[in-house]
Amino acid sequence: MMTTLPTLRVQRRQWLALAAGLCLMPLASARHERRVLFGSTADLLLPEATPASLADDIWRGLQAMNERWNAWKPGDVHLLNQAFAAGRPARATPALRSLIQGAAAMERLSQGHFNPGIGGLVGQWGFHDDVMRPGPRPAAAEIAAWLTAPPSLAQIEWRGLELRSRNPLLRLDFGGYAKGVALDWALDRLQRGGVHDALLNLGGNLAAMGRPGQRPWRVGVRDPQGPGLAATLLTQGREAVVTSGSYERFRVLDGQRCCHILDPRSGRPAPGLVSVTVVHPSAALADAAATALLVAGPEAWRPLAQAMGVDAVLVIDQQGRRQHTAALEGRLDPPV
Ligand code: AMP
Ligand code: MG
Repeated sequence: MMTTLPTLRVQRRQWLALAAGLCLMPLASARHERRVLFGSTADLLLPEATPASLADDIWRGLQAMNERWNAWKPGDVHLLNQAFAAGRPARATPALRSLIQGAAAMERLSQGHFNPGIGGLVGQWGFHDDVMRPGPRPAAAEIAAWLTAPPSLAQIEWRGLELRSRNPLLRLDFGGYAKGVALDWALDRLQRGGVHDALLNLGGNLAAMGRPGQRPWRVGVRDPQGPGLAATLLTQGREAVVTSGSYERFRVLDGQRCCHILDPRSGRPAPGLVSVTVVHPSAALADAAATALLVAGPEAWRPLAQAMGVDAVLVIDQQGRRQHTAALEGRLDPPV
């Protein structure tokens, strides 16, 4: 069910993500709609004159993606995962095939750091649950078994819309990618409907285009070490600002804090970086890249960013040290 929350107290996290954008928005001519989607709050900021039917279309489309692409709730991806486990062929819709093929391309581009076939491992670590409860770590033997036959989307065989997995351990999980695809879809749909100034926030991942008034959108990047912002930046044209962080979703397992982003090479939570923000015109690429660079870690994120074609990146490590690429020089405020 899509929930409208006109009176919801704005959660600090989402407020921070949008704070500056909202400040700049000339409120008299702005429309701000809010729903709960993708396990978090979604905000859509539009010119007041936007037809209600167009905004409704956006929400309907986002809601359909949210329901169908969640691997852990009954829906299309869940059914595919059951078929893979049973060694059965299954059928995808054209939209799901393009999601899977897009994710497979991101896996290749990221040299496997972003692995959308990682659902089995995500389940072993218990990061699929809505609530992150403390507990024991998964057994080393379980992780070792996954690592002996590491799943990859390259193991999927297609015949038209029919697919099967050569690897029975393959479980799709689009938690690191679907929001980016949804952001791109929503902005495309708005542009086709004649709206060229808009901002969409999906749980702190943003895509914006145009400008709310005289000035561009200003969006915030959360400070992983405190309640404030690490930086803000003005968006340019159509741009997504996507952050992967190890500070928000984690479980305390055997007394240790374990982050929900897993390194497919070790089968364990990715150590090293606490936050990676990617700014790019494609939200799907930014989403996959942010996850991949967090996995790559402090030593390897720069060459991987280059290989993935993302040139605007801000990273924060466990010591709170910040680094950014040349493309963000002069764009971050306060300068980092
Ligand atoms: P994000 O916040 O975009 O980095 O996505 C994190 C989510 O992606 C996790 O909650 C998992 O569902 C999934 N995930 C974890 N590790 C990986 C990985 N190495 N590659 C792809 N998806 C991952
Ligand atoms: Mg991601």
